[in-house]
Amino acid sequence: MSDCAKFREMLEAYALGALDAPERAALEAHLATGCNDCAKALAEARWLVSQLAYLAPEAAPSDMLKGRLLQTIRAEAQAAKQSAALKSAIPFWMWAGVAALFVVTIYSAWNAQRLQRDIQATNQKAAAILLQHRDLEAQLEAAKREATIVTDPASVKIALASTDPQTPPLEATWHSQLGIVLTGQKTPVPSSNRVLQLWLIPKAPGGKPIPSLTIRPDADGKFVLLVANPPELMVQTKALAITEEPEGGSPQPTTAPRWVGGIS
Ligand SMILES: [Zn+2]
Repeated sequence: MSDCAKFREMLEAYALGALDAPERAALEAHLATGCNDCAKALAEARWLVSQLAYLAPEAAPSDMLKGRLLQTIRAEAQAAKQSAALKSAIPFWMWAGVAALFVVTIYSAWNAQRLQRDIQATNQKAAAILLQHRDLEAQLEAAKREATIVTDPASVKIALASTDPQTPPLEATWHSQLGIVLTGQKTPVPSSNRVLQLWLIPKAPGGKPIPSLTIRPDADGKFVLLVANPPELMVQTKALAITEEPEGGSPQPTTAPRWVGGIS
């Protein structure tokens, strides 16, 4: 390798001021000999190094730059911390959200159930009131009908005498369209699970007693029995009779009549 070639490899380092003292001295001695090629090459190297200097970062950053850099680093560190915190926070919020949704769902379901129960209770109350109302209406209707039957001059009064002279008679009122009202005062109360049953005795010869409704007098022996739809027409009925029967009544009398009243 010629001297020039050896020195050329050292030019960039020399331009940068990076050569050690013996190398620098040797190169400067060569340049002092007036080698034009090496002088040209050194000029190029210096130009290149000057260009590189623009690209290279400042070797010693200014205080302002240092400050900015530190700020940036701190900010990044903060951001990193926050992002780490955020990462751990996401599952918490997710769970909190899920839990909240769960609670809301449970509450809604519970609320819906409660609402359903409330609605059911209200419906039951309404139904009960309606039933009561209907019952009252029916009672009122029956009372009106009874009053009409009893007070209508067209009705036929039938006294039912007791077979026992100690027992007061019963009174029946028969309206050809509205039915029969049978009333009792101080009527002996039958033994428990026994009732009084009304029978229609037909005019037809050999006709069997036709069963009608049953009743139990109250503790004072009072009762009002409305037979809205008698099983036989008044004109075809000879008499009314009352027997004591098991609860629910009988299809035909099982005891002797306690009261009997002929229809005139
Ligand atoms: Zn040279």
